[in-house]
Amino acid sequence: MAKIPINIATGSLQQEEIIVGIDLGTTNSLVAIIHPETKQPVALKEHDSSSLVPSVIYFDETGSIVVGDLAKQHLIDSPERTIFSAKRLMGKSYNDIRNNASFFSYKIIDDNTESLVKVQVGDKFYSPVDLSSFILKELKQRAEHILKTPVNKAVITVPAYFNDAQRQATRDAGKLAGLDVLRIINEPTAASLAYGVGLDKNEHKIIAVYDLGGGTFDISILRITGGIFEVLSTNGDTYLGGDDLDNAIVQYWIQQCNIDTAKLENDTSFAQAIRLKAEQAKKHLSANDSFDDQLGEYTFSLSKEKFESLIRPLVDKTLQCCRNAVKDAGLKATDIDTIVMVGGSTRVPLVKESVSKYFGKEVNDQVNPDEVVALGAAIQADILAGGNKEFLLLDITPLSLGIETAGGLMDVLIPRNAKIPSKAARQYTTQVDGQSGMRVSVFQGERDLVKDNRKLAEFNLTNIPGMPAGLPKVEVSFLINADGILTVSAKELRSGVEQSIEVKPQYGLTDAEVEQMLMESITHAKDDIAVRALTEAKTEGEQLLKTTERFLQKNAAELSKQELIDTANAMQALQLSITMEDKDLVHKKIEELNEISRPYAERIMDTAISQAMKGKQV
Ligand code: ADP
Ligand code: MG
Repeated sequence: MAKIPINIATGSLQQEEIIVGIDLGTTNSLVAIIHPETKQPVALKEHDSSSLVPSVIYFDETGSIVVGDLAKQHLIDSPERTIFSAKRLMGKSYNDIRNNASFFSYKIIDDNTESLVKVQVGDKFYSPVDLSSFILKELKQRAEHILKTPVNKAVITVPAYFNDAQRQATRDAGKLAGLDVLRIINEPTAASLAYGVGLDKNEHKIIAVYDLGGGTFDISILRITGGIFEVLSTNGDTYLGGDDLDNAIVQYWIQQCNIDTAKLENDTSFAQAIRLKAEQAKKHLSANDSFDDQLGEYTFSLSKEKFESLIRPLVDKTLQCCRNAVKDAGLKATDIDTIVMVGGSTRVPLVKESVSKYFGKEVNDQVNPDEVVALGAAIQADILAGGNKEFLLLDITPLSLGIETAGGLMDVLIPRNAKIPSKAARQYTTQVDGQSGMRVSVFQGERDLVKDNRKLAEFNLTNIPGMPAGLPKVEVSFLINADGILTVSAKELRSGVEQSIEVKPQYGLTDAEVEQMLMESITHAKDDIAVRALTEAKTEGEQLLKTTERFLQKNAAELSKQELIDTANAMQALQLSITMEDKDLVHKKIEELNEISRPYAERIMDTAISQAMKGKQV
C-alpha cells in the first residue's frame, strides 16, 4: 500500500523525514537508505566513488579534521596524528586494552588505567565518543550532500557483544554528530534483515552470521521467531581480521626480500606503505591467481596458493570460534538453517569455502559483504519510519494526537510516527469575556475536522478567573510515557488553575483500523484543507464581529453617524458571508469591515492614550 504524505497546511506533497541506516565499522563505515522509488535498500555513494568511508580520522596541525580516504593516506606520513580503529576503544579503560596497546600507532593516555581511555593528538585529547562522532558527522554530511535533504535521524549498528556502556557511547557519539539515534541494532541482526531473513512473521529459523571485517571476527548464532531476533551465542576474536591477512603477507614479503625488521620498526611510513601494498595484493587475489608489484627498490609477488597457505591458520581460528559458538548455543553445526556472510574479508575465496564446508551448506554471500550491515540498518530504519507496515512498532504513535479548537478543527500536538516517550504543549485562550471554563477534547487521527477523527477523552478546566476574552493563557500539554499512556493536562498560566486526565491512545484500535484512518486522511486531504481554510476564515470573521461589537458598546458616542451606518452595513455583510461556504468572500468582508473601522479605531485609541498620559501628569 502506498502512503502519500501530504502537508496539510500547504496541500503540497511532503517529503517524509528520512531515517538513514549507519554501519559504524572498525575499519569502514557507510550509510544506506531505502530508495524512495524502488523501495530497495541502497548504500549511498557519490557518483563513481565507493560507498565505504574508511573509519580513519586525521587531525592536521591547524586543528582541522579530515575523515575517510583522505585521512587514510596520512597513516603513512603522520601516523601519530591519524586515528584508526576508534571503535575498539568505545567504552574501554586503559586496563581493557593494555595488552594490545602496541596495536595503536597513536598516543593513548595511560595515566589513569581505570577511567575511560582518551587519545592524545598534539596537545588535544579526544574520547572514543568524540572520535566516533567525527566519523558520524562526516557520514551525515555526505548523506545530506547526496540526498540534498537534511539527515537528522539514524539507526546505528553495533556488534552483538557490545555491552550497555558501549551501546550508550555509540548513542552519545550519534548525538554529538547531530543525529537522533532512533535505534542501536546488532550487526548480525541487520545483516539478516538485508537477506530478508526475519521479515516474515511466521518464520522460525536458526541462523549463523559470520562477520570477518578489517580487524575483528564475530560469529553470532541467532534464533528468529515471529520477527524477533534472539542472540543465542556470540564468539569471535576482537584482534583477528583482514589486517591480519595483510600482516601475514607483509611477514612473507619481508622474508622473501630480506628486509631488515628494524627498518619496519623504525620507519613507520615504510611499514604502513608495505601494509597497504599487502592489502592491495590480498584484494587482487580474491579475483585473480597472482599478484606482482613494486614498492621503491622492492619487487613483491604472491600467488593465490601461497596466500592461502599463509592465511589458513587464521581461517582455522575463525572456524574454532564457530564451533564454540554453535556449542554454546546448545546446537550442532547441522542445526543451522542459514549462514550469512558479512565483512569485506569474506570475499576471500578460502574463507567462503571453509565456512561453507564447516556448516555443510551453501553460504549467503550475494549481498555486498561490506554493505550488508548498513543495508539491514536501512531496512530497520524504514520499519521505524512506518514504510514497512508488516511490522507494528509499539514505540511510535500510529496516529496523530491533538485537541479540538474553534470550529471543530483538529489541532495536532503530537504528530503521527512521533517517538515514544514524547511531550508537547501549546497555549490557547478563551473566546468569550469572563469565560470560566474550557473544554479540552482529545482526539486521535489525521483528519482536519475532529468529527472525522476518534475521540479519546474529554475534560473541563474550570474555575478560570473572569478575564476578557483572549487574555487567559491556557497551556495544554500532552505527555506519552514509554508504555504508550497519554496524559493530557491543562493549566491556566495566570491563575495556576490546573486539570489533567490519563488516556490510553491505542486502546481498542487494530492495525487495520489505524491503516483505514490513515487512508481516509489521504483520500480526504484536499477536502480537509478546504474545510480547514473555510472554518478558520469563519472563526476569524466571528471573532472580528465580537470585538467590533464590544468596541461600539464602549465608544459609539465618539463615532460619526456615517461611521455608525457604514460599520453596521459592513458587519451585516460579514455576518451574511459567514453563513455561505466561501472563504474568499469571508476574507473580503473581514477586510472591508477593517477598512471602515481602522480610521476611527486609531482616532479613539490616540485620544485614550493622550488622556491616560494627562492622568499620569496630574
Ligand atoms: P569492518 O566491519 O571492520 O569495518 P569491513 O567489513 O569493511 O570492516 O572489512 C574491511 C576488510 O575487508 C579490510 O581488511 C579489507 O582489506 C577487506 N577486504 C575488502 N575487500 C576485499 C577483497 N576483495 N578481498 C579480500 N579482502 C577484502
Ligand atoms: Mg563490519
